[in-house]
Amino acid sequence: MADYLRDIRQIPVVSSVLPGETTDRLPAHAPEQGESMDAILADFRSVILPGVTHWNHPRFHAYFSTSASGPGILGEMIAATLNVQHMLWKTGPSATELEQVTLGWMREWLGLPQEFFGLIHDTASTSTLHAIMAAREFASPETHATGRQPALILYTSEQAHSSVERGALALGIGTENVRHVPADAEFRMRPEALAEMITADLSKGLKPFCVVPTIGTTSSTSVDPLSQIAEIADRHNLWLHVDAAYAGPAAILDEHRHILNGIERADSIVLNPHKWLFTPFDLSVLYCRHMDLLRRAFSLVPEYLRTPEQDKVRSGSDYGVQLGRRFRALKLWMIIRYFGREGLAERIREHCRLAKLFASWVEESPDWEMTAPVPFALVCFRACPPIAGRHWA
Ligand code: PLP
Repeated sequence: MADYLRDIRQIPVVSSVLPGETTDRLPAHAPEQGESMDAILADFRSVILPGVTHWNHPRFHAYFSTSASGPGILGEMIAATLNVQHMLWKTGPSATELEQVTLGWMREWLGLPQEFFGLIHDTASTSTLHAIMAAREFASPETHATGRQPALILYTSEQAHSSVERGALALGIGTENVRHVPADAEFRMRPEALAEMITADLSKGLKPFCVVPTIGTTSSTSVDPLSQIAEIADRHNLWLHVDAAYAGPAAILDEHRHILNGIERADSIVLNPHKWLFTPFDLSVLYCRHMDLLRRAFSLVPEYLRTPEQDKVRSGSDYGVQLGRRFRALKLWMIIRYFGREGLAERIREHCRLAKLFASWVEESPDWEMTAPVPFALVCFRACPPIAGRHWA
């Protein structure tokens, strides 16, 4: 592992294997007898590694380029060694409490309201699914028992990540009941369009129940106007879930804190340390203001999971689909301890500086043009070389 990280610059970022090539190079049947670790590692090097896309490569620039840090990698190794499964406090006291303390520290750094309680999930898709579940419990508590729900309407921007619609899909909300609110020229949700859509749905007897703005959209990292959207959500008693999966961690910087203005009126927020906080995949954080609703949404405690401590300490498994929970908080705790807020902020600031610098080169070049503003560390640009006196559309 150390050699890999030392020599990573020598290898290409993207693998050149063809679909099916790795499968063809692996035996069709599993071995009857165990094999030596030397043989396994030799095959790892010759068969598996050539088919790896190197997300930890300094020149990986696809999607949100995300890199894991040394302390995070060590945290993963220790977690695998301990193999803690903290479905209950009793089955992992440190894991349960470290998750709560670490997410409490992060809540403070992000300036989130004190009432927000954090839980770790694998991905933002799962975090958002749970937020929508809580929203439904709030809007239609009878669904819990009957499985029937009114035509609940969810609003998100046309620029939102597909995980929002997929969460609604998984909960039986139905894609026809997900409204994609138009965005402005800078890809931000238009609050007035949101308000109009809600009014139109109410007049048809439908039940608006949830709105999901994004802080750092997937395509351009645009920031939806949270305060204005919160105002509308308040007026109509909608659950406000904020998708800050990518840009949320930037709010630990004083100069970016404003991106979460309005968060004091939100019901839940997701952010992904595995996107922009040097955390090895996977680790997503869901903060929710109404843990009672989340608990009610998932409450089902069979006899074999009852313990004397269950009323004294919150166990993550009471608040979600998943029972077994792995010790993800350890790596985040190690990262936070190792870098401190200043160290993390300094790195995020540097990413933003480099993005702005790159954008300035694009702007200066006659053959390239910017296609979106650069609020964070993602630059959207395209080629526009003059062709027969015309520019590419
Ligand atoms: N939300 C936003 C804004 C994203 O950009 C992404 C992924 O890029 C997601 C949610 C989904 O993240 P995950 O892969 O953790 O489910």
